[in-house]
Amino acid sequence: MLINNTFSKTKEEFRPINPPNVTMYVCGPTVYDYFHIGNARSFIMADIIRRYLEFKGYSVNFLLNITDIEDKIIRRSKEENKTAQEVSEFYAKAFNNDLASLKVKPATRNPKATEHINEMISIIAGLVEKGIAYNVDGNLFYDVTKFPDYGKLSGKNLEELEAGARIEVNEQKKNPLDFALWKKAKEGEPSWDSPWGKGRPGWHIECSAMSTKYLGNTIDIHAGGNDLIFPHHENEIAQSEACFNQKFVKYWMHFGFLNIQNEKMSKSLGNFFTAREILKKYSAEAIRLFFAQTYYGGPLNFSEELLSAAEKGVEKIVNLAEMIDAGIKKNIEDGAQPDIDFKNYYMQFTEVMDDDFNTSKAVAVIFDFVKNVNKIVSENERINSSFFSETKKFLVDTAENVLGIIHFDSLQKEVSASLENEVIELLLSVRNILKKEKNFPLADQIRNDLNKLGIELKDGKEGTTYKKK
Ligand code: AMP
Ligand code: ZN
Repeated sequence: MLINNTFSKTKEEFRPINPPNVTMYVCGPTVYDYFHIGNARSFIMADIIRRYLEFKGYSVNFLLNITDIEDKIIRRSKEENKTAQEVSEFYAKAFNNDLASLKVKPATRNPKATEHINEMISIIAGLVEKGIAYNVDGNLFYDVTKFPDYGKLSGKNLEELEAGARIEVNEQKKNPLDFALWKKAKEGEPSWDSPWGKGRPGWHIECSAMSTKYLGNTIDIHAGGNDLIFPHHENEIAQSEACFNQKFVKYWMHFGFLNIQNEKMSKSLGNFFTAREILKKYSAEAIRLFFAQTYYGGPLNFSEELLSAAEKGVEKIVNLAEMIDAGIKKNIEDGAQPDIDFKNYYMQFTEVMDDDFNTSKAVAVIFDFVKNVNKIVSENERINSSFFSETKKFLVDTAENVLGIIHFDSLQKEVSASLENEVIELLLSVRNILKKEKNFPLADQIRNDLNKLGIELKDGKEGTTYKKK
């Protein structure tokens, strides 16, 4: 299996440190607002990568952290007259709910920065001891000139990085590229005790501390959006490798931006749609298909047209899925046994996914399969149920478990919801007959019993309607 490693800028054979275990760390959100559909691209593609590793038999320890202390959270809490904790807890919950709505598998853990302050302090203390971090009046900075490899992920030296970066001006820093490890407490802001006085951690140290705590000093895969390569991931490497004298990450993976009119979708530019807004218009499956159709590492333009087209694509699979479920239920054993090479479809799927998770080709394999099965179904009247079972297995293994673009279980739910409605309608017509026969006690009993089940009836001129409470 090949992975395009940002570090070497080449496709490398994937060899995890301790197979079949894989450790994977993805930089999560700063929780001061709902996340946008651009963020969702990174989370969904990371989810597909994790699911494919599981498909291949790996056991993935998947960490998605939550940055719950940061300037933006503090600013928001002041605007809303709330504590920073109230703001971050609210949006952390919304984050997990929205990810679940996007059918992203829950992470093994979602560690929060504020719950790991001691681990951060101990790394910073280690860096101070080594003469790499320096303290200026309670603010601690990382001296980038003390880490000879600084810039190795970006492939640039200090001068090039300095020229290209928008660097925060701070007179306390020795070098412009030095970055904050610990920020001295300011009046009215949350703070924690440390050997250097009260303060709060910088952003980069959070990921170094949490990844080491849960995944060890060297992790297999570290992922995030392209915007995190510099300075965030560069700084994580500098902190972790200087502190532990070990390679920090074997495979760096970065997701391309979701753009709007060729500009990165971002909160600060205001050119964004939240994931929850988009979920009101399109299914999670269509959103995932829209993303999966493009290679994870390249840019992608947000497009409602493509989302609508993806919705139609999902409908195609859903139609087939319903036919498959019906075909299994029929339990036919003496029908046609169509000739379709399932093994070959699995091979095609794994071949393209093994090549640096080429989801766009994987989607093509699945649609080719769907087309082929539809043709078979239209050409044969009685087909053995075992054919449908095998067809379902392929779709569950690939389209459902890896890409998450179909969910057979939710088909069941939709079917059972419509069955429920039919049963209610049936009861209503029985109740109408009872009313006509002036059997009011029994008609009322039906009304009361349905009410107890959360179904409210309303009698009107046009007949009886109902509402689920
Ligand atoms: P943030 O909350 O801005 O730290 O972003 C959370 C994750 O989403 C990070 O991995 C970012 O790199 C990623 N991200 C932010 N904007 C975009 C975008 N427009 N397209 C894809 N990923 C993004
Ligand atoms: Zn990070």
